[in-house]
Amino acid sequence: MAEATAAAPELRPLVPHLTLGATRDQDYLNGARCTNCKATYAGPRMYCSKCSGQGPFESVKLSKEGEVHVWTIIHQATPYVQAPYIAAIVDLPEGVSVNTNIVGVDPKPENMKFGMKVKMFTEKVSEDKEGNAYVAYRFQPV
Ligand SMILES: [Zn+2]
Repeated sequence: MAEATAAAPELRPLVPHLTLGATRDQDYLNGARCTNCKATYAGPRMYCSKCSGQGPFESVKLSKEGEVHVWTIIHQATPYVQAPYIAAIVDLPEGVSVNTNIVGVDPKPENMKFGMKVKMFTEKVSEDKEGNAYVAYRFQPV
């Protein structure tokens, strides 16, 4: 008789629109493209807000490089989150915008520009009680 055993700890994406590869270099943001009107969205989608259709949607691998659309510096964060940090919306060439943090730059207004080129990377950000590690994406200046 087999005993129930706990599942082996695994790497998990922190958000559903992040797909993990075998290595962190192979991680990418996934999107859904409406086959009817070609509108593209971050992550899975049930309905298209452009044509109001139900797709069908095809899966697309989103670009790792984009441009800062808008940003702000957060000075007061929730517990266990180090502040200040830069929160931003980044536009990707596929017509998709993603919420993200900008790292690799001192969080001061003089270091940020609208339209600045940034590149995505991923890193382990936390671990749960079962030892599963969670991976998040962030962007840094190119
Ligand atoms: Zn559509």
